[in-house]
Amino acid sequence: MRALYWDGHDLSLQSSYPTPIQESKIVRATGGRPARADQQPALIKVHLAGVCSTDLQIFRGYMGFRGVPGHEFVGSVDEGPENLRGKRVVGEINFGCSECEHCGRGLARHCANRKVMGILGVDGAFAESVSVPVANLHLVSDNVSDEEAVFTEPLAAAFEILEQVQVDLGDEVLVLGDGKLGNLCAHVLKLTGANVTALGKHEEKLKLIKQSGGRTMLLNDWKPKLYDVVVEATGSESGLKLAMSAVRPRGTLVLKSTIAGEHHVSLAPLVINEVTVIGSRCGVFAPALEALEEKRMSVTPLIEKVYPLAEGIEAVAHAAKQGSRKILLRP
Ligand SMILES: [Zn+2]
Ligand SMILES: [Zn+2]
Repeated sequence: MRALYWDGHDLSLQSSYPTPIQESKIVRATGGRPARADQQPALIKVHLAGVCSTDLQIFRGYMGFRGVPGHEFVGSVDEGPENLRGKRVVGEINFGCSECEHCGRGLARHCANRKVMGILGVDGAFAESVSVPVANLHLVSDNVSDEEAVFTEPLAAAFEILEQVQVDLGDEVLVLGDGKLGNLCAHVLKLTGANVTALGKHEEKLKLIKQSGGRTMLLNDWKPKLYDVVVEATGSESGLKLAMSAVRPRGTLVLKSTIAGEHHVSLAPLVINEVTVIGSRCGVFAPALEALEEKRMSVTPLIEKVYPLAEGIEAVAHAAKQGSRKILLRP
């Protein structure tokens, strides 16, 4: 099959990359112990895959990953359980061991032995096909387009905030960063009825939030003000400092950026102001899919361009450009 392959130095388009083989076939060939039914992989034909900032970080050495990148996808089941065959699906990206304490509590995304699609130890979706455990798959309903469904993973990461923090009607919420993640966070937080302000550097990107009824502010116009909840989604050290200065005493600071690197900030203000700091990463897919089904938000304006997989190298270069919105690959 065709796939984009990262060898640790270069990203290349491979025309005859091995198609993932169904584990049942490997087991039959080797006589090994079959995996539990829900841990068995299904073979997914990829319809669309999204390029994410994490992918761009992988190309800078993040996680030391080698293989096919890509963890945001929508596709249809080619091989797998009969009830899923031919169905459109999205897939949670953390493949847990299914045996440890975290997996037992439904927290495969914190399993110490996990593999993460296109990020850690297992190939991802920048390819014609990808292998995903059946347990990780979610059906996509007919009224959700591929272009919407491909946002499920980043949208789930935004919904994770609501799993962790109680945000109420009328709360003053500040989202720092008008990138793709900041944008999705602002949209999701608005669903709570909170007063959401998005602060960013790009008028164009803030416009998407404004159009959906959020307040927006350019960084140049920032005047110090205190918020109940501040979400840091800029990925920069200056963003973290500003975020810390904008949380009210006893407020909540949510850290969404997973930028590799070190921050040099004084933690004293967090102690003095008794701020609750919450790290927030991936979320479960159900609330995100539900929001897309119920048309509670529109994500497609975030799409900048769809590239064929054959132009994957150009697509990644485009995604790396400052200020670009979501770049998609169509195998
Ligand atoms: Zn991502
Ligand atoms: Zn586990």
